[in-house]
Amino acid sequence: MLELAAKVHDEVRQGEAFAPYKNDPKKYHKKFYIESYGCQMNFSDSEIVASILNNEGFGATRNYEDADLVLLNTCSIREKAEQTVRKRLTEFRKIKEAKPGMLIGVLGCMAERLKSKLLEEEKLVDIVIGPDAYRSLPGLIEEAETGQKAVNVLLSREETYADISPVRLDSNGITAFISIMRGCNNMCSFCVVPFTRGRERSRDACSIVAEAQDLFDKGFREVTLLGQNVDSYYWIDETKNEAVTFAKLLEKVALVNPALRVRFSTSHPKDITEEVLHTMMKCDNICKYIHLPLQSGSTRILQLMNRTYTREWYIAKVNQIKNIIPDCGISSDIIAGFCTETEEDHNDTLSIMERSKYDMSYMFIYSERPGTLAARRYKDDIAEEVKKRRLQEIVELQNRLSLESNKRDIGKTFEVLIEGDSKKSTSDWMGRNTQNKVIVFPKRNYDGKKGDYVWVKVNDCTQATLLGEIIN
Ligand code: SAM
Ligand code: SF4
Repeated sequence: MLELAAKVHDEVRQGEAFAPYKNDPKKYHKKFYIESYGCQMNFSDSEIVASILNNEGFGATRNYEDADLVLLNTCSIREKAEQTVRKRLTEFRKIKEAKPGMLIGVLGCMAERLKSKLLEEEKLVDIVIGPDAYRSLPGLIEEAETGQKAVNVLLSREETYADISPVRLDSNGITAFISIMRGCNNMCSFCVVPFTRGRERSRDACSIVAEAQDLFDKGFREVTLLGQNVDSYYWIDETKNEAVTFAKLLEKVALVNPALRVRFSTSHPKDITEEVLHTMMKCDNICKYIHLPLQSGSTRILQLMNRTYTREWYIAKVNQIKNIIPDCGISSDIIAGFCTETEEDHNDTLSIMERSKYDMSYMFIYSERPGTLAARRYKDDIAEEVKKRRLQEIVELQNRLSLESNKRDIGKTFEVLIEGDSKKSTSDWMGRNTQNKVIVFPKRNYDGKKGDYVWVKVNDCTQATLLGEIIN
């Protein structure tokens, strides 16, 4: 079993079904069930879909057998993700045989990639809807109810769902995600996202700040600004003739309230500017943590991946971060076994991990995706056993780095935002420090609640968790 600190993917959340309430106080005339796969963007999109459906009289249920509408928000990033969804669709299809009125819909990246194939050839679903077309869901449901095939996979250059207030489906009431941009213009050669999610566009900054304020007013104490490449956020406020860069946006959200923590994900290393780093330093409530995906430590492989930076440039970027923000937490994404990768390239990845001292990484085996630049240009020529062995080495190294990083924190005291009970015991709290590390500590006689900030001294650790005690 791989330890959690060295995540291979956020597997815990894959396929999770959410509904905001066990017993929804509002009355809806129909029920929908939604299951989400893939990245945080998809989970966040499911909350937009839930909001659209609530307005149409559909209430969320956690039980698909009760649902009139079953939706799967899907991911195409690796082949395995698609296989999981297909298996799930076949299971739902069987339930539909006994309950013909039930509609099944596929949302997100697989809908975009496979388009009407799922409807027409495989006859697995009734509705296919791409990530930019969620506003047309009510019309598509009506069409599907009359027995027609309902598809909308049009990508947009403008859609940001800025005016839709998401229904928080998996809420602890303390931390929430805010989508600030959609799509990606980067064209990393391995990646299907630019094809499934379209061109990059930034959301109206005023609506982002308003959403953060609304969350704060409702008791939330942490927001994560989300996008495939948040640092290239750029929006012009025509009323003030002001250009809002990501650094400016970060500051605006941080100014909502000093008690609201601000995080962001994901940063493409080429776009994270000095201005962003200085803004992080300037505002205490912007968390000192950056997810900075490396992908590979070899300049030759980085070029084939079209990442636009070299090994040396990445090392310099990490040094710059650590110079400006000395206590900054850094995590990464790493791909093992990309086309033509040699042992030397692989060792370059291991050595850069060691130098960067990542606190945590998401680690993947390269999976060729049809239509991507890599699939068209290069041969997927690394044997599966070699890919697996290299991934194992990467995971083992990350496990060691995570443990070493946690051990360095023993004896230190951190301000921790309490998110709730620890998973293992209701007599312990669980929270995070600014570096995004999970800290577990006994409640004892502290008369607090989730959403409180407390000072916690770290006494011990595992590879995935710091263990401490409240000192105030
Ligand atoms: N936009 C983010 C970035 O550039 O860092 C990441 C988006 S992607 C959803 C998350 C991660 O999936 C990537 O950083 C990469 O490591 C991994 N990934 C993407 N395509 C992949 C593929 N074809 N095979 C294996 N891993 C892949
Ligand atoms: Fe994919 Fe690269 Fe865009 Fe990230 S930056 S979503 S890896 S194309």
